[in-house]
Amino acid sequence: MVENDQDIDEIFQRKIFTRPFLLIGEGSNMLFTKDFDGTVIKLATKGIEIINEDDEHVYVRAAGGEDWSDFVRFTIEHELYGAENLIGIPGLVGSCPVQNIGAYGSEVKDIIYQVEGYYLPDGEPFVLYNEECHFAYRDSIFKNELKNRCWITEVVFKLKKEKHFQLNYKQLADNLAPFGADLTLEKVAETVLNIRNSKLPDITKVGCAGSFFKNPVVSEAKFAELSAKFDQLVHYPAPNGIKLAAGQLIESCGWKDIRRGDVSVYPTQALVIVNWGNAKGSEVVAYYQDIIQSVQEKYGILIEPEVRIIA
Ligand SMILES: Cc1cc2nc3c(=O)[nH]c(=O)nc-3n(C[C@H](O)[C@H](O)[C@H](O)COP(=O)(O)OP(=O)(O)OC[C@H]3O[C@@H](n4cnc5c(N)ncnc54)[C@H](O)[C@@H]3O)c2cc1C
Repeated sequence: MVENDQDIDEIFQRKIFTRPFLLIGEGSNMLFTKDFDGTVIKLATKGIEIINEDDEHVYVRAAGGEDWSDFVRFTIEHELYGAENLIGIPGLVGSCPVQNIGAYGSEVKDIIYQVEGYYLPDGEPFVLYNEECHFAYRDSIFKNELKNRCWITEVVFKLKKEKHFQLNYKQLADNLAPFGADLTLEKVAETVLNIRNSKLPDITKVGCAGSFFKNPVVSEAKFAELSAKFDQLVHYPAPNGIKLAAGQLIESCGWKDIRRGDVSVYPTQALVIVNWGNAKGSEVVAYYQDIIQSVQEKYGILIEPEVRIIA
């Protein structure tokens, strides 16, 4: 557990990163198939402060060990716009850039100014500006070139001062429409939390890692071929093609009715795999691999896990 700068120095002095290590936040995007054979390093550093502002924006620095939703609440209390749709996503601030967390039409890349930390294993400090993080849908440089090669310890966010809401997501927009010009950050956050609670399991009661798969992006030609064969495919424009809803594809393969031991998809959201009690990691792996195979057989699309599998 790393609580302060002294602990960070000590980790580098002890050359921990020259041996097998695992950086962990809340572990909410991981599936363990066995114990990790090495040092598990969890950030527990605290601190959120306003460090700068200009006419339009306020810059807020948050320690990597801060709870993500506590950070969102800070922005709401200070009447800063941009983070509110992301309230309720489990995890820590230090993990949020890794998969560019997103929900209800917002992504954290839209409010990240810079990411700070240390290159591994030597401990050289780094600062990466937003454009250098190569953010994409549930992706960033931290999952690719810099995977296991950097430790994020602080994130600086750039939030809007002027009232501005992101209401592209239909269900959110519909629920908030009655508020009109009286809409507030508090109301958006409350509505997002209500929608999340109605669709997602309570992680204090059952095991799950949120959306297990990424939504696949297919070419226009592939989409045309699929829509000739299958009615009402949910789809959205994406930068490099058409994004489909993995949950719909999984549900249409019949997975809502398939429970194996303590593993199943969640009844209100087939994209989420749940461990109802004592399923082993290997059982979850067998289950998700069969889901991938059935979607591949029916649609010719390879869906990929969003979750990090620790094998
Ligand atoms: C019920 C539920 C709902 C969810 N809903 C959403 C959602 O709406 N949108 C969404 O995007 N995600 C969602 N998720 C996934 C998850 O909340 C996010 O991926 C979150 O950012 C994970 O945070 P964490 O602290 O638990 O990270 P962990 O799972 O501990 O780690 C995630 C990855 O980041 C790496 N990492 C962690 N800390 C650091 C660090 N300091 N430096 C470098 N690398 C690090 C880890 O090695 C790992 O690869 C959901 C998960 C659950 C369980």
